[in-house]
Amino acid sequence: MDSAFKVAEEYSQQLDLQDPLSGYRLKFHIPPNTIYMDGNSLGLLAKNSEDCVLRALNEWKTLGIQGWLNADLPWFHMAEELGAQCAQIVGALPTEVVATGTTTVNIHSLVNTFYQPDDLRTKILGDELNFPSDIYALTSAVKLRGLDPNKNLILAPSRDGRTLDEKQIVELMTDDVALVFLPSVLYRSGQLLDMKTLTEQAHRRGIPIGFDCSHSVGAIPHFFDEWQVDFALWCSYKYLNGGPGGTAFLYVNENHFTVEPALAGWFGHVKERQFDMAPNFEHARSAGGWQISSPAILSSVPLEGSLKIILEAGIQAIRRKSLTMTSYLMFLIDELLSEDPYNYAVGTPREAKRRGGHVAIEHEEGSRISEALRVRNVIPDFRPPNIVRIAPSPLYSTYNEVWRVVQHLKEIIDSKEYERFSKGRKLIS
Ligand SMILES: *Cc1c(COP(=O)(O)O)cnc(C)c1O
Repeated sequence: MDSAFKVAEEYSQQLDLQDPLSGYRLKFHIPPNTIYMDGNSLGLLAKNSEDCVLRALNEWKTLGIQGWLNADLPWFHMAEELGAQCAQIVGALPTEVVATGTTTVNIHSLVNTFYQPDDLRTKILGDELNFPSDIYALTSAVKLRGLDPNKNLILAPSRDGRTLDEKQIVELMTDDVALVFLPSVLYRSGQLLDMKTLTEQAHRRGIPIGFDCSHSVGAIPHFFDEWQVDFALWCSYKYLNGGPGGTAFLYVNENHFTVEPALAGWFGHVKERQFDMAPNFEHARSAGGWQISSPAILSSVPLEGSLKIILEAGIQAIRRKSLTMTSYLMFLIDELLSEDPYNYAVGTPREAKRRGGHVAIEHEEGSRISEALRVRNVIPDFRPPNIVRIAPSPLYSTYNEVWRVVQHLKEIIDSKEYERFSKGRKLIS
């Protein structure tokens, strides 16, 4: 742990004064009087994203259908244009990324494209800690082929319920595996998997590999082309601040541009000839070929604003600040709250290269502590059984907020405030 940190509040203020990204906070709408630590679930609205949405509404108002070609960012090209911008932060060519669909739909589309079971290889290798939607989608992909998920969906187990061991995953890449599909950062513990090594090892065994990067894009740099990942997908509403349920992204390595998309739709047709309305599907030789429907313009356009901010701040600088903030948070928890009566524990791997943008703070009263935090206008989220996730955003959080979150965690125990809340299940936590 970085022993250069200090526990006094003044130290957090000093870090804020030295922060090269501090100016970006002004570019966001921060909920009033709130310490927002949930940017890994729903990123906040950037002011220029708001402008882009208002502009798009006005274009719809004044241009009607002509907006498809005449809007400031023509709707017909928006998916490819946003994809090209996002490609810059994931180490991809502009044509390898497109803004389209939603996370789970993109999992279905890409997994069904790259999962080609034959007589020898029938299995998908995933992991038991992945987000439930990903596991549901993998299960249905196996069933769609008429195969039994109990035999053909292998979920790499976790020894400690928090993390996965890459070596163990590699051992499971046996010669009956047809596809590997894994998360980049685990949504609960925040562990970052070694995508480069996993890709190398899968390819050494002739297995295609894809990643769900919903919990990493916008927080850490990716190098999909350099690593030669086959495909990837990610949502836009976490670290990319694209808005609730907003349009997601997908990446397909250019080596696979000739592969036929499994779920064909007219927006995946070669663009120049899309409006010939031909009955046979001629897919675009780019990630755009994996589009299915008309792009959701109103839930894509916020990305025009937020990607601009991320590209300007730079993904390396964003990662640097994120690591410093999360290291500082872990330092404060260790120093101040790890012992009786507090008993908070950090469940996230410590090494920088093994963690993403959030910290998993474990406590047996995690659920009720999360509620007490919300009453104090601190927004974390809770993931069962005992995890309070705290995600300071490099673009709009301050070091002083991190310091104050730790004070709140302390006071909630000192005052036993959490005891006021019931233990029941919540609709959204
Ligand atoms: C956020 C997230 C999802 C959400 O899926 P949607 O289809 O966007 O609702 C799925 N998988 C992972 C790993 C996520 O982090």
